[in-house]
Amino acid sequence: MYKIAVVGTGYVGLVTGAGLSDFGMNVICVDNDYKKIEDLKNGIIPIFEPGLSPIVERNTYYKRLTFTTDIKRAVEECRVIFIAVGTPPQDDGSADLKYVEQVAKDIGKNMNEYKVIVNKSTVPVGTAKKVRELIEEKLKQRGVNFPVDVVSNPEFLREGTAVHDFCRPDRVVIGSDSQKAVEIMKQVYNVLYQNDIPFMLTNNETAEMIKYASNAFLAMKITYINEIANLCEKLGANVQDVAEGMGKDRRISPEFLKPGPGYGGSCFPKDTIALVNMGKQYGFPVTLIEQTVRANENQKKLMAQKIEKVMGDLEGKEMAILGLAFKPNTNDMREAPSITILKYIIKKGARVKAYDPASMEEAKWRLSDINDKIKYCKDEYEAIDKSDGVVILTEWDRFKRLDIKKVKELLKEPYFFDFRNIYERSAMESYGFKYSGVGQ
Ligand code: NAD
Repeated sequence: MYKIAVVGTGYVGLVTGAGLSDFGMNVICVDNDYKKIEDLKNGIIPIFEPGLSPIVERNTYYKRLTFTTDIKRAVEECRVIFIAVGTPPQDDGSADLKYVEQVAKDIGKNMNEYKVIVNKSTVPVGTAKKVRELIEEKLKQRGVNFPVDVVSNPEFLREGTAVHDFCRPDRVVIGSDSQKAVEIMKQVYNVLYQNDIPFMLTNNETAEMIKYASNAFLAMKITYINEIANLCEKLGANVQDVAEGMGKDRRISPEFLKPGPGYGGSCFPKDTIALVNMGKQYGFPVTLIEQTVRANENQKKLMAQKIEKVMGDLEGKEMAILGLAFKPNTNDMREAPSITILKYIIKKGARVKAYDPASMEEAKWRLSDINDKIKYCKDEYEAIDKSDGVVILTEWDRFKRLDIKKVKELLKEPYFFDFRNIYERSAMESYGFKYSGVGQ
């Protein structure tokens, strides 16, 4: 059985490493963040991801899953090397490939026999070729010549349900021009293959594009319903019913038709602007996605402005913020709408009492420039107590079961901004709230 290295032990790398070891493979997870690797060796999981901890624990116990900062050893020992490092946006929107390129160079420096390099990071079309060139350049400098195959295997897992998504993906995309590498990948993913998960075999470029085209489409779908929601609000229509009516059409599907304060996270914002950048670079602008990016920025601002519009001058107002993560069941706040909205209301003079079940520590450094205006609370009721209004930004389950009577009693003013459309307007108004949703 092939030994596997996963380089980059973040949301994708750790779930991939843990998942593959649970499939029975022998996996070494590599990261250049010493603290992260030390923590993992001590059984501390650096991210909040439901269901991940027992899998890591179980496979560490059976020694199928190990952690190291020593990429040299991992490359030497493993036949298959996954690249799962970050590809953050640069100033012009294009994906920054410096981490991927560094790993490619490290592989070239340390390769000692045939290897299959599997790129799981989301990378612009053409990156597989670049990775191969970088590896071969290093081999040439060393005066050695080992064969190498580069496979593009984009990841579609969602934070919050990452373990499930990894084990039960809708499809596995394998981009490669090598039959030998494809056969090895089928063995790596043997469990998924046996479980009748659809496998798509393509060339590298197609696999790389499938990831961007999928993410940009989903971002566009969210943005579409957000814009329809804004219009519904003006026209007296209810976007919840509109979305339901649309979703019944199987060509549309009800997924990703929930209006909210704009999409965030580590993927949609960066992947949409990377696709826009690719379109411009090659002379075929993806105008729908250009507009999606603009409309999403606008949506976040519109939500912040809505608070001001409803409550008037925010100077001296105290606002309870429920939810900081970009979505429930994760601690990730990368590009979260909460960042834009908090910055806006604080600039307008408000103070914030915030609570999120998983991202309080992350918030403290991500919002360090406005931390003096934020009190981090122990739960939602402490945040709500004596506040002038409450704003739900993330649809954590616990915010779906608020003790509404208690909320009403604790609030100084009954303003309730439900930017995830959890509650019914009429019910909330009957409790005496001044309720604002999205598109209702
Ligand atoms: P992350 O920032 O959580 O993790 C990246 C890890 O790589 C970090 O731990 C970092 O220390 C490590 N790293 C960087 N350079 C390294 C090097 N030279 N050697 C060893 N380790 C190194 O990132 P992520 O969210 O896991 O995303 C990784 C990739 O997967 C990105 O391209 C992303 O777009 C894509 N992706 C992410 C998700 C998601 O939900 N997070 C889903 C699908 C695809």
